[in-house]
Amino acid sequence: MSESQIISVDGVELTVVVQRKRVMHLNARLHGSTLKLSAPYSATRAQIEQAIPELAHRLLRSARAKHVNREEDALALARRIATRFPRPPEVQGVAFVTTQRSRWGSYSAATGTIRLNAVLRQMPRWVLEAVVAHELTHAVHLRHSDSFWALLRRVCPDTDRANAFLDGVSWLAGSWQRLPPVERALLVVVPGEEDVD
Ligand SMILES: [Zn+2]
Repeated sequence: MSESQIISVDGVELTVVVQRKRVMHLNARLHGSTLKLSAPYSATRAQIEQAIPELAHRLLRSARAKHVNREEDALALARRIATRFPRPPEVQGVAFVTTQRSRWGSYSAATGTIRLNAVLRQMPRWVLEAVVAHELTHAVHLRHSDSFWALLRRVCPDTDRANAFLDGVSWLAGSWQRLPPVERALLVVVPGEEDVD
């Protein structure tokens, strides 16, 4: 028997699935945005409800600690990339945001701020680097002109490889729902699991 509900923890929506099992303690795992709880038969509903926010918070925090690219590192990276420009653009801050669906990043010359799609936190460093370089190049050339690409490839030689990588990510994200389950399963390696007792 299992019950499920949606909760919001630290700004993230999670589906909570509670399963009664022959276990001693409440046990929680995070699978993507699903929080799976195993609860002993003896635990009351109130006890379970009470434990959920803290368990969810701990699991989300440990998942965040595993981000490949953290904000501080991204700022240092952006400042390093800026120095490769003939006239280095100003970098005051870098923020990972969840409000930029379908865009990888943006740069505001007025505030010197680079905003990056939060999913870049999980991508290889060289891809993040290419996106940062791309946005900084817009400080010099507004449009994707030939001079834009020439400058970008000079400050970031991995540009074309990174674009191909990001195109692949976009393709998969756009096709995922339409892929037949069998083909989808072929793309899934081993789902990550985190355990907390
Ligand atoms: Zn652009």
